[in-house]
Amino acid sequence: MRYFLFVGLLLLPWFSQAQVDSTQIFCRAQPVSSIGILDLLAMYRQRDTLQSHGASGPLRLQINGLEVTPTDSVARRYVASLDADYPALDSLWFSYLQADVQAFASQKDSLMLHLRAKGWSARYVQAIRNLKRQQQLKATGRSQVLLSFHNFNLAADVGIYSRGRYLRRSPRYTQMGQEAKLLGLYWGGDFLGFPDPGHVQRFANSAALVRQYPLLAFEFEKYRDHYARIYATGRTEHVQDTKELLVTLNRLKLGQICACQVARIPPQNQSHTEAASVVADSQKGWVYLQPQGENGYYYDLGRWEFASKK
Ligand SMILES: [Zn+2]
Repeated sequence: MRYFLFVGLLLLPWFSQAQVDSTQIFCRAQPVSSIGILDLLAMYRQRDTLQSHGASGPLRLQINGLEVTPTDSVARRYVASLDADYPALDSLWFSYLQADVQAFASQKDSLMLHLRAKGWSARYVQAIRNLKRQQQLKATGRSQVLLSFHNFNLAADVGIYSRGRYLRRSPRYTQMGQEAKLLGLYWGGDFLGFPDPGHVQRFANSAALVRQYPLLAFEFEKYRDHYARIYATGRTEHVQDTKELLVTLNRLKLGQICACQVARIPPQNQSHTEAASVVADSQKGWVYLQPQGENGYYYDLGRWEFASKK
């Protein structure tokens, strides 16, 4: 009897993993005993993924009838990220990412020394990039991503020159990639589907970055619908990184408080302003989400769960 119980316990994690699809997550309505300011901000981001981006102004936050203001550094960063259409992510997250931004800077310096030691004319044509520029590049097809390592100061593009002319293509980029990898960097020439031979970055992919810096999930969540679309429509061998990112984001969300995406009938006697708002009542089990100058809606509170495998 004891032996069977033991075997059963060993199999339990295997069974529960086999039944879920960790690329799919949904909000299951359920009672929520307490709720914090980070939950409100996560729910605001959750909704603007479906609708408009960002709050574009001050965000009114209220929990069980009391106004709350962000005081800790995480909540303040989340608010700053929601506040602007194109937040300066590199400065917003600099102190959080500092160790890796600095390590990347010295890898970049070493790489350039190696290239110049070969007698090549080379320089970094672009390192840091703002979000607006990133999204223009995406719109014109020159980049495949809405959020890139460049935005966090964790990627750079090498330009190699011959007689003062920039070389768009050259076997030297492959050699540069080899040097970069010896220094522990990841080379864009290895990217499947959209190779980028001048590009080097500090992390293998976005999932690896988010695993090391889980607060950055907040930035990637903004583009969740985009990742889900790539994963659903791309060729399997080209979407492994996207799948890994979705799974990583979902693991971080599992069990967190969410707004269940079926609007409910508004409670009585609620007054609203034009300001962007997140108002939650954990006792009554609802959250009200309103973008600035638009209609708001009430949702059931719940927690994230993995979908079952079909
Ligand atoms: Zn690049």
